[in-house]
Order: sequence, then C-alpha cells, then structure tokens
Amino acid sequence: MSPVTTCDVAVIGAGAAGLVAGHHLRREGHKVIIFEKQSQVGGTWIYTNKTEPDSLSLDPNRPVTHSSLYLSLRTNLPREVMGFKEYPFVVKKTGQRDERRFPGHGEVFEYLQDYGSEFGVYEMIRFDTEVIRVWRDGNGKWKVRSRKVKSGGEGVSEVFDAVVVCNGHYTEPRIAYIPGVDRWPGKQIHSHNYRVPEPYRNKVVILIGSSASAVDISREIASVAKEVHIASRSTSNEETATLPGYDNIWLRPMMENAYEDGTISFPNGVKISADIILHCTGYKYHFPFLDTEGIVTVDDNRVGPLYKHVFPPSLAPWLSFVGLPWKVVPFPQFEFQSQWIAGTLSGRISLPSPDEMTKDAEAFYSSLQSSGIPKRYTHNMDGIQAIYMAGLFLQFDYNDWISTQCGSPKTEEWRKKMYSATSLNRKARPETYRDEWEDDDLVFEAYQDFAKKIS
Ligand code: FAD
Repeated sequence: MSPVTTCDVAVIGAGAAGLVAGHHLRREGHKVIIFEKQSQVGGTWIYTNKTEPDSLSLDPNRPVTHSSLYLSLRTNLPREVMGFKEYPFVVKKTGQRDERRFPGHGEVFEYLQDYGSEFGVYEMIRFDTEVIRVWRDGNGKWKVRSRKVKSGGEGVSEVFDAVVVCNGHYTEPRIAYIPGVDRWPGKQIHSHNYRVPEPYRNKVVILIGSSASAVDISREIASVAKEVHIASRSTSNEETATLPGYDNIWLRPMMENAYEDGTISFPNGVKISADIILHCTGYKYHFPFLDTEGIVTVDDNRVGPLYKHVFPPSLAPWLSFVGLPWKVVPFPQFEFQSQWIAGTLSGRISLPSPDEMTKDAEAFYSSLQSSGIPKRYTHNMDGIQAIYMAGLFLQFDYNDWISTQCGSPKTEEWRKKMYSATSLNRKARPETYRDEWEDDDLVFEAYQDFAKKIS
C-alpha cells in the first residue's frame, strides 16, 4: 500500500476503539500518538472496585472513575461475534484464562492487551496523559493540550493534522427525572457506581431501566434484597406481576412521584416504601476537551452534525469519531470505522464534498424526526422498525457500506446469523443465555473462518 499523504494524528483514548484506530492509522502510514489518561489499555474493560463519591455522578468536578463494570459482569455477546475481525477472540491456552463463550470482563481486558501487543500498539501510547483541550489553531491544524494525570497543571500543547476521538461513552450517567425526588429521603445511585449486590441486602430497591445491565443487576440484587421493583417505560400501567422465577422482583411501569415519607408512587395507585433508587438509565456522550467553536454539538445525546456517525462535514477528515453507535457489536465496527478514517486521511478514499455530507446528515436527521424518533436515538443501530423506516442503517448494513468505501471485506455471514441467534436466545432465556445455546453449527463455522486467520 502506498499512502498518498502521511498525517500526524492524535488519537484520544486507548480503549478498544483507540487501539484499533491507532493500529489502522499506522498501517496506512500515518504517524500516531494515542493519549490515554489511565495507566493501561482497555478503557471500559479495566475493572475497578472504586466508585465515585457522588453516587449519581452529577457533580462536574467529581473525581471521575472511567469504567462502569460490575464485578460479576460477563459479556452479553459470544466471544466469536464480539471479537475483532482481524484478531479473533479465541480461547488462549496460556496463563489463567476464562474459556467461557461469554467470558467475564477480565478475559476481555486480557484480550485487548493481547491485541495491543500483537499489533505493537503500545509503542504509540502515552499513558497517564489526559487530553484537556482540543481546538483548531487557525492554520487548519489541530492543537491538543495534554497533561500528566499525576502532576496536573497547564499541560503542553502539540500540533496535529488530525484528531480521532475515541474517549468512550459509558462514563457520564443519564439520570431519570422523578418528580418530588429532591424531598425523598432514600439513596439514589446510577449503575455507573454499581459493583456488587451486598449494599442492597434487605433493602427495597426501585431499579429504573430495561437495558442489558438492568436485566443483570436486577437479578443479582434480588439474591440479597428484600424487594426489587423494576420500573420501565416499556411495562404497561396494568402490570403488577412478579418476574417469572422470582418472588421478590416486580415489573412496574415508570414511577410517578417520590414523597418525603419515603414512598414512591406508580400508576394504578401502587405506593411502595423504598430505600434505594438505582438508575440503570444509560449514559451521555461527553467531550469535555473538545472545542470546535460550536461546529460539533451534543444535543439530547445526538453528536452532530456528523456524516455517517464519524465525520463532522466541515472538519472532515481532520476530525473524526470512532465508536459512537450503540446497540451494535462494537469491536468489529471500530475496525470498519478506523479503516475508513485512515484511508480518507491518506487520500486513498474520497469523501463527498462538505455540502453533500451536510445534506446527507440533514436528510438523516429529518427522516428521524418525521418518524417520531427522538434525537437521543440518533446513534442507535438496533433493528427496531421505526428506525429502519427512518433510513438509518442498521449496524451490518452500515458496516457493509463502510467496507465498500474502503474496498475491504464485509461482515462475515456467520457473525450476522450468530448475532441474531444470540439476541433471540437472550430474549428467550435472559438468565441462562450465556450458558445455554443452540447455535453450535455457527460456532463451528466461525472457528473454520478463524483457522484461516490464526497461524
Ligand atoms: P472505552 O473503552 O470507554 O475507552 C475510552 C478510553 O478513553 C478510556 O481508556 C479512557 O481512559 C480514555 N479517555 C477518555 N477521555 C480521555 C482524555 N480526555 N484523555 C485521555 N484519555 C481519555 N461491548 C461488547 O462488545 N460486549 C459486551 O458484553 C459489552 N458489555 C458492556 C457492559 C457495560 C456495563 C458497558 C458500560 C459497556 C459494555 N460494552 C460491551 C460496550 C463497551 O463499551 C465497548 O465494548 C468498548 O469497550 C468501548 O470502547 P471505547 O474504546 O469506545 O471506549
């Protein structure tokens, strides 16, 4: 490959997205520095039992803990689907590894370290170095100000041709609005600060949400709590049942009010005296270091305007984002996006004009609006019908589209089928899908494919 242009590129973050971006950018011929504020690679997958002192993480000046993992977390995707295309997530026989198909978080962390070593990514990383400001310097270049986490201070500024933002989006909690909660005397926590069930022993807990984390955490807490009430917008007002298989988990609609006497009211006149509200309500995109003079904004969790979730049209390809979409298989998608960014920066792949990219983004946003889809679903690539109708690419169509731009292979058919099989299995067996499945034929196919990649 002979790149047309070599750029100096700053990558922010050495989680999975930053590792992949660094690898593909360098492979394309660019000079790369990856800034990472932690001391290790892995981002989200660096488990810590440390939580934030502000249990809702609302204080902008709080000491931030990056990871939101809880101790018992196992992946919600099988390792074959979850792993990188170029570096399959197969069981390693060295050391003490977790060989399960849906392994614990420690195995993913080790896998990301292996990826870093395999492709020599470590030599591009500046650890313990936080990016505190990114802005344009008036000559079409980017300035990146960073500082050593331990020493703090003003830091130093360096100039780059391009910046790739890979800072993750599972650190800044979204909180549910509950009328009256300011006067309610109980404790509120966001799942960002949930680690183990013990603090919930004998408590009455209202858990808000229906995401993968909400499903896991509600079951885990129920093993010690007195009662767990799962409040969710997707539960009908008439619902009063306990969850099948549990006598202390109730499915509730979203709560109505919280009161000074410690009770919480639900539609239907149900009132519960509760000790803890646990918000499993997701996260906000947050780029505290990024100053684009208002060109890129976060509005109701839409990062925009962006062409295909990656490039702000008027700053492309010099500013880009890896990993914004959610309800996706993240690691392989990072590979597609990173190849695209690397190739556009070198001039090997062309982008439409800024005007055309802007029109594309605007058309996408107005199709969401006319289908009644809130802005905060902009980066959701789940296959729900409304989003499909709004013209949003679903994840595999999106990945295939990028692969066409890059001239690289598309998502493997077995991966698509296994993803669907896992989603169905998870719905059918939310407690046991990680240990019981019926897609061994696809596992066989995946390993045949891996055999071609692993020497
Ligand atoms: P992160 O992993 O968050 O990495 C971002 C990095 O940027 C961090 O290392 C951070 O320290 C660094 N950083 C941030 N700001 C700065 C700064 N200013 N300066 C320098 N460095 C900075 N995905 C799956 O595929 N399977 C799963 O089963 C799964 N389960 C999940 C469970 C939970 C509870 C959560 C929260 C996420 C889960 N995910 C899962 C999604 C997961 O986030 C992705 O797999 C992936 O790790 C995201 O990688 P990232 O690089 O985008 O972000």
